[in-house]
Amino acid sequence: MQFKDLKLNKPILKAIAEKGYDIPTLVQQKAIPFILEGKDVIVSAQTGTGKTAAFALPILQLLFDKQDAGKRGKKIRALVVSPTRELAIQIQENFQSYLSYTNLRTTVVFGGTSIEPQKEILKKGVDVLIATPGRLLDLHKQEIVNLSFIETLVLDEADLMLDMGFIDDVKKIERLCPVEKQTLLFSATMPHKVVQLASSLLKNPENVEVSPTSSVAKSVSQVLYYVPKPKKMELCLHLLRNTIKGNIIIFRRTKFGVAKLEKTLRRNGYKVDSIHGDKPQNERQLAMNKFKKGEVNILIATDVAARGIDIKDLDAVVNFDLPNVPETYVHRIGRTGRAGEFGTSYSFCSADEKAYLASIQKLINTHITVEEAHPYPLDPKAKPQVHKKQGSKHRPGRKSAASKKKKKRWY
Ligand code: AMP
Repeated sequence: MQFKDLKLNKPILKAIAEKGYDIPTLVQQKAIPFILEGKDVIVSAQTGTGKTAAFALPILQLLFDKQDAGKRGKKIRALVVSPTRELAIQIQENFQSYLSYTNLRTTVVFGGTSIEPQKEILKKGVDVLIATPGRLLDLHKQEIVNLSFIETLVLDEADLMLDMGFIDDVKKIERLCPVEKQTLLFSATMPHKVVQLASSLLKNPENVEVSPTSSVAKSVSQVLYYVPKPKKMELCLHLLRNTIKGNIIIFRRTKFGVAKLEKTLRRNGYKVDSIHGDKPQNERQLAMNKFKKGEVNILIATDVAARGIDIKDLDAVVNFDLPNVPETYVHRIGRTGRAGEFGTSYSFCSADEKAYLASIQKLINTHITVEEAHPYPLDPKAKPQVHKKQGSKHRPGRKSAASKKKKKRWY
């Protein structure tokens, strides 16, 4: 199938050709016809499948075909809600590149950065708005954004949106849009709460499903290292010196863990940057750009900060900490081995992460190959470390048992 078989119009086909896309990806083949028909659609697809173009292209076509000839200023007719700033920026960049041969306009708004420049652009008028929920509601409250003319509403990464606690915001945003509209819901996974949200917001939706999250691309080889928790840092340095080369993302579960690893790697002379939720937006963007431009070759990230980010030419993904949600493992390693390239994922498993490993292996229905030849092996009998609150034996408590006994009660 070719793009022109999808009944896309000339200005859009021209932009696609300029991007160098030859054939539509599976999600594009399946979703674009439904969207062009004006139907509500639920799409289960991960980043990397071409899902952004799967909604951006038909939305632009619908807007292009049905333009308001009047000169009353542009109204926002398509709204894309995205859970994170990085994703929102990426989506807007996609729209921007596909609309070059139309007179349509787009912008992106997100929190953590000054609201004034965003207001200025919005006042000039855009056709497509990409937004994170909080900033969108803020701008709506200030009457800068009017959602009464929305024709298509896209909820992207719905599962992450719910995980991040945006359910009420999403419902509120939907209510601010007209009742008669097209709603598209995209989600990497389809847990019950996403299905519930979809059934409350979408009308007779079509379902499109590509590559369920339990499948790992064959082009990613997976390796597992059992290692005691305190030795993970040394193992990471050992592998970076001897085994892992090229452009690498290292995932950690916490912001604190990210910061600690970044400091250690930098001290050891590695070119590294990081993204996590506590970093201001401009710093996160700066780190991303440095990584994309090759100024640093190692990016350390938490899942939420890195989710959905499209980074090309990744050679390796390191799971410094195993994720406690098994689907997250599939998301993480899906970032390498894309588009016909080969990639490797290296996962560290300490004694207390064995349960996570079990559920990951169950989900992907594979036993990850264990690499035993490394200097920091884990004793197979090692028990998980339990962090007990340690009180000093010299300070058994504020009061002795005798004093507690002697205490006079007031009643
Ligand atoms: P996404 O899943 O939307 O994050 O897209 C992943 C990457 O695939 C992006 O870099 C897109 O530019 C690219 N892409 C989207 N559609 C196509 C296509 N039909 N052919 C080749 N690359 C594509």
